[in-house]
Amino acid sequence: MKEKELEELQQIVSICTKCKLHTTRTQTVFGEGSPNAQILFIGEGPGMQEDLSGRPFVGRAGELLTRLIEKGMGLPRSSVYIANITKCRPTVDLQMKKDRAPEKDEVESCSPYLLKQIEIISPKVIVTLGNPSTKFLLQTEKGITAIHGKWHDFRGIPVMPTYHPSYVLRNGGENSQVQKDVWEDLMQVLDKLGIPRKAVVKWKN
Ligand code: URA
Repeated sequence: MKEKELEELQQIVSICTKCKLHTTRTQTVFGEGSPNAQILFIGEGPGMQEDLSGRPFVGRAGELLTRLIEKGMGLPRSSVYIANITKCRPTVDLQMKKDRAPEKDEVESCSPYLLKQIEIISPKVIVTLGNPSTKFLLQTEKGITAIHGKWHDFRGIPVMPTYHPSYVLRNGGENSQVQKDVWEDLMQVLDKLGIPRKAVVKWKN
């Protein structure tokens, strides 16, 4: 049921022309994971690798996210769901060279798809990765540094904002303070779901 609903939505997204990003995309990046996921991760928008492959978080930031989920939380990546605010790659001057955060009109056009994904999947917890998805979902102007690690609410669903994996990579990467912060934020997610922290293997490359 959820699978079918997601498939139908994906079909609609794949031919979307609501904003300018459709003019430069190779393909849309709908999101992937278990339709019955307890945890939904929300990033910004696809980057180069994602635009080429059609899958979310498969570049360098994606590799870190996957390690955090699999080695950090001890969960198969396929058991969670991973999506973005925009389904097409936002780039500076639409040149498809340098990634940028989605612009207001792009978020306005694309976010109904994300909201529908949330409705269908109906996760127990949402993890927003970085400022754009946190600001959009929580309708806040507060920055991620101020609000990460604290529980928030989106229409009755607990939301844990944390740093974007790209930000972790830009700020010391593995074993940096930012990564420790992300680690702690994700441990709170396990606690909320009643998944014992002792199941967690401290990951190493
Ligand atoms: N960054 C994001 O926010 N999303 C992706 O899918 C990849 C990188």
